[in-house]
Amino acid sequence: MAKYKRILLKLSGESLAGSNGTGIDTTRLAEYVQQVKEIRDMGVEVAIVIGGGNIFRGLSGASKGFDRVKGDQMGMCATVINALALSSAFDSIGVSNKVFTAIRMEPIGEFYTKWKAIDALKAGQVVIFGAGTGSPYFTTDTGSSLRGVEIEADVMLKGTRVDGVYTADPEKDQNATKFSEISYDEVLQRNLRVMDTSAIAMCRDNKLPIYVFNMDVVGNLKRVMDGEDIGTLVHP
Ligand code: UDP
Repeated sequence: MAKYKRILLKLSGESLAGSNGTGIDTTRLAEYVQQVKEIRDMGVEVAIVIGGGNIFRGLSGASKGFDRVKGDQMGMCATVINALALSSAFDSIGVSNKVFTAIRMEPIGEFYTKWKAIDALKAGQVVIFGAGTGSPYFTTDTGSSLRGVEIEADVMLKGTRVDGVYTADPEKDQNATKFSEISYDEVLQRNLRVMDTSAIAMCRDNKLPIYVFNMDVVGNLKRVMDGEDIGTLVHP
C-alpha cells in the first residue's frame, strides 16, 4: 500500500536541466518519468506541476530590462515547454497522461478545471499542469499549492536536489542540520527557503502537508510512497 493515494508533485525546471544548468536534460527527464511510472503502477494518482527556471524566470528577466509581466508570461510559457517534454517522455514509455494549462492554449493542452483534472486522475492518467497559476508575480511553487489544494491531494511532494529542509543552506553552510519534520509557522519564522512565503501560507491555511525530498536520486519517489523517512515533512 502506498503511503499517499493522490499526490501533487512539484518538479523544478532547474532540476530538469541536469548538469547542463539550462535547457532540458533528456537523461534527467527519462529518470523523472520512470520514477513517476513506478508509483503510478502502485495505484497512486499523480499530478505534476513543473517549473520553468531552466528556460526563463520573470524576475531575472526584469533585472535585465524586460517588462515584469511579460517576463512572467515568458516564464509561464517556459513551464508549458517543460510540461510538453514530460508528456512526450511519458508517451514514449506508455504512460497515459494529460497536459492542462492555466492559460487557454488548445491544442497544446486542455484548459484547466479542477473537475477535468480529477476525472483524468481517476482514470489513471498522469496529469501535468503547465503555466503555473496563469498570473504574473506568482511562482510554480504557489501554483503547486493552489493545484494541490484544488485537486484535494493528500500531500505536496516537493522534489528538489537536496534531501529535505535544513537550518541553513546545506550547499553553503557545513553546520546546517536537517529537520525530519517542521511546522509551517517555523518555516516562515526562520525564513527557510523551502518555497516562497505565499506557497507555504497557502498550504498552511488549507492543511496541505508538504514533503521535501531529493528527487534527483533515482528510486526516491518510490521510497517516499513506501513510507521511508528520507526527507522533511512540513505540517501543522
Ligand atoms: N510564473 C508566473 N506565474 C506562475 C508561475 C510561474 O509568472 O503562476 C513565471 C515566473 O516568471 C517564474 C517562471 O514562470 O519565474 C518559472 O517558474 P518558476 O520560477 O517557479 O520555476 P522553477 O523555479 O520551479 O524552475
